[in-house]
Amino acid sequence: MKYQIDTIPVLKAYEKAVECPICNLKEKAEEAGIRYYLGHSVMVPEIRIKLNETGFCKSHFTALLNAEDSRLGLALMTHTRMLKVCQDMKKELSPGSLGGGYFDKKTKKLIEKIEKTEKSCPLCIEISQTLLRYSATIAWLWDNEPDFPEVLLNSKGFCHTHLPLIFATGADMLTRKKYTEYYQQIYNLQTREMNRMAEEIEWNTKKFDTTNKDASWGTSRDALPRAIGKLIGS
Ligand SMILES: [Zn+2]
Ligand SMILES: [Zn+2]
Repeated sequence: MKYQIDTIPVLKAYEKAVECPICNLKEKAEEAGIRYYLGHSVMVPEIRIKLNETGFCKSHFTALLNAEDSRLGLALMTHTRMLKVCQDMKKELSPGSLGGGYFDKKTKKLIEKIEKTEKSCPLCIEISQTLLRYSATIAWLWDNEPDFPEVLLNSKGFCHTHLPLIFATGADMLTRKKYTEYYQQIYNLQTREMNRMAEEIEWNTKKFDTTNKDASWGTSRDALPRAIGKLIGS
């Protein structure tokens, strides 16, 4: 088994009856990661050296900025990251022979470097490792915890974005035979829940029709954000 199994947070996420437990766990992992990077980690030299090199992706830099906690910590990190970018600019972008346009050697390298930075965000990397562990835990629970298949069956499935993660870790965790069964159950569950969400959003659109003005919303009042979350994850 190549994943560390972590059942407590996974079972807690299932108690909440959310549209996607992996999204719920991702939010928790994100909050913890943000607290970590705004806490004492800013004073740890190895972490600072790494952060000077990578910075954060746009979404996580924004989340750090919007967090109420240590503005000083974030300012310190941002300052030394900025110094590193200035240093790299001097080394890599000083004008010399220029081809011009997007195919210019320097411009191309700069684009590649910016793309690489987005992919090397430590928060993104740590969160995706955590989610691998949690997805593997779902397969482990299904295989080892007699009550869990029923919990899974009564859940709302997953968002479409996290579905490949569930399949891939299931294949890693289970024998071929068991994976076939697991895949079939997840596929049935997901089909049922995507169709249920489609019906909820459809009723939401129909409520705009004046003839349905007095009809009950049912569960569709907040269907729009849930349907978008079901498609792209939150
Ligand atoms: Zn999700
Ligand atoms: Zn990130």
